[in-house]
Amino acid sequence: MLDIEKLHVTVDGKEILKGLDLSVPAGEVHAIMGPNGSGKSTLSYVLAGRDGYEVTEGRASFDGKDLLAMEPEERAREGLFLAFQYPVEIPGVGNGTFLRSAVNAVRKHRGEEELDAGAFLKVAKDAMKRLGMNKDFLSRAVNAGFSGGEKKRNEVFQMTMLEPRLAILDETDSGLDIDALKIVADGVNALRDPGRSMLVITHYQRLLDYIVPDKVHVLSGGRIIASGGPELAARLEAEGYATIEAAA
Ligand code: ADP
Ligand code: MG
Ligand code: MG
Repeated sequence: MLDIEKLHVTVDGKEILKGLDLSVPAGEVHAIMGPNGSGKSTLSYVLAGRDGYEVTEGRASFDGKDLLAMEPEERAREGLFLAFQYPVEIPGVGNGTFLRSAVNAVRKHRGEEELDAGAFLKVAKDAMKRLGMNKDFLSRAVNAGFSGGEKKRNEVFQMTMLEPRLAILDETDSGLDIDALKIVADGVNALRDPGRSMLVITHYQRLLDYIVPDKVHVLSGGRIIASGGPELAARLEAEGYATIEAAA
């Protein structure tokens, strides 16, 4: 589903990713853990196609297509979804309106019937109930005045509604208390599917107690320096990043 080879990325003239290799097969959930400043968000931004992230070397393909050659909107239509570490506030744009147009753009691209307001509301209310969200989320402006935890829930809500093929969650656990974390993890787990891959980026092992990944990768200094099963996350928690960095 996602194949990254020797990716080098420069931001503001500074090389952040320095030859990153990563493969996430269809149906798998992979976790990326790494210390602050190791390049985790840079990786998610470059995959989503954010301006200012210059690829100087390497390649990335999504379902066999050259991901880096696609416009950001095209990536989204093809089923790439990024849940941001710092979700943006869009005052004046209703959350429901925003999400319905995004959902319908994807449905149209897939050749599926678009959802009218009533049909959208029904699916959205269902998803919000599962995620423990208040109905008024839909009528509020996108993320405006949302607490940190509400923004994170809203990201998972968007993901649930968009049914992406590849979802990247950048520190979706930060700012969540333990109850919200469980709800969000349940929401993510409910989206596990043989046709869907997920990349869960986190600083802490805690989230991975609830979203048990197929593989764990350690990102340090702009490269994947170790990969393993869920036990690698437990080892990181016990030993910290330094021993693994020293061994790499
Ligand atoms: P992480 O998400 O793992 O904490 P980031 O990808 O956010 O790491 O950042 C990686 C490194 O890139 C950090 O050293 C950060 O200071 C640097 N960086 C990120 N964005 C910029 C930018 N716009 N200009 C210069 N340096 C940046
Ligand atoms: Mg960080
Ligand atoms: Mg980050």
